[in-house]
Amino acid sequence: MTETRTAIVTGSGRGIGAAVALRLAKDGHKVAVIDLREEDTTATIEAINAAGGQAIGIGADVSNSDDVAAAVARVTEELGAPTILVNNAGILRDNLLFKMSDGDWDAVMNVHLRGSFLMSRAVQAHQVEQKWGRIVNLSSTSALGNRGQANYAAAKAGLQGFTKTLAIELGRYNVTANAIAPGFIETDMTRATAERVGVPFEDFIAHAVSEIPVGRSGKPEDIAAAASFFASEEASFVSGQVLYVAGGPKG
Ligand code: NAP
Repeated sequence: MTETRTAIVTGSGRGIGAAVALRLAKDGHKVAVIDLREEDTTATIEAINAAGGQAIGIGADVSNSDDVAAAVARVTEELGAPTILVNNAGILRDNLLFKMSDGDWDAVMNVHLRGSFLMSRAVQAHQVEQKWGRIVNLSSTSALGNRGQANYAAAKAGLQGFTKTLAIELGRYNVTANAIAPGFIETDMTRATAERVGVPFEDFIAHAVSEIPVGRSGKPEDIAAAASFFASEEASFVSGQVLYVAGGPKG
């Protein structure tokens, strides 16, 4: 029987984060669904409630330290000390290097890297106190390099170094840190990329699938399954790892 913990999943109003939040709730955990606007967490909360789980929705910008402090305090008060953290919130500001603006660079660094740093620093205090914790960071196959994504690739590669360092620093407190590097997953994020390059989403998916060894696109539930493993009791000896969930090797 899984012990009930309190989990925080950032950017879980939709997409991969929503699937991760629902999966952790089905695993028996209480879940804080964090997204930029609280009203955007409603659908995820309803799905969790319908599955018999317990969740609260919080509006917070993970790159803002005041928002992060307030969100973690509210989770602690309403659901109990958070000991599972999934840093999933993310944005794209794709452009070729010569066209990439200062703002494109900073926005991506702020949400992915600063956001994961602020959330992890706030949550580790509870994990260290409880002598138990799980941190799961969302990297990407783009960490290996991807045209038009100098900012995103740098952030996602940075998250791998961040993850390994957290694993080293927090291991003695029974806290593990791992990263999931998804390949092509069907969400609003990949839909927006298809729109940006002017390709119908179905064609965009078909092209992606043609390069995926298992011959299908990824679904948010594929990532949720990996997050569920990393968050589990059984994964206590797995730390500092990057798991490519991409229908093929990629890493
Ligand atoms: P998505 O559908 O665009 O969802 C991202 C969520 O993050 C949105 O709900 C968004 O809120 C939220 N968010 C953005 N900035 C935030 C902030 N500052 N504070 C709090 N929440 C914020 O993306 P996804 O495809 O599910 O991706 C989830 C994660 O997986 C990201 O880290 C992404 O980089 C990574 N990933 C995705 C893929 C893929 O193929 N989809 C592949 C590799 C890695 P709003 O709705 O308000 O914008």
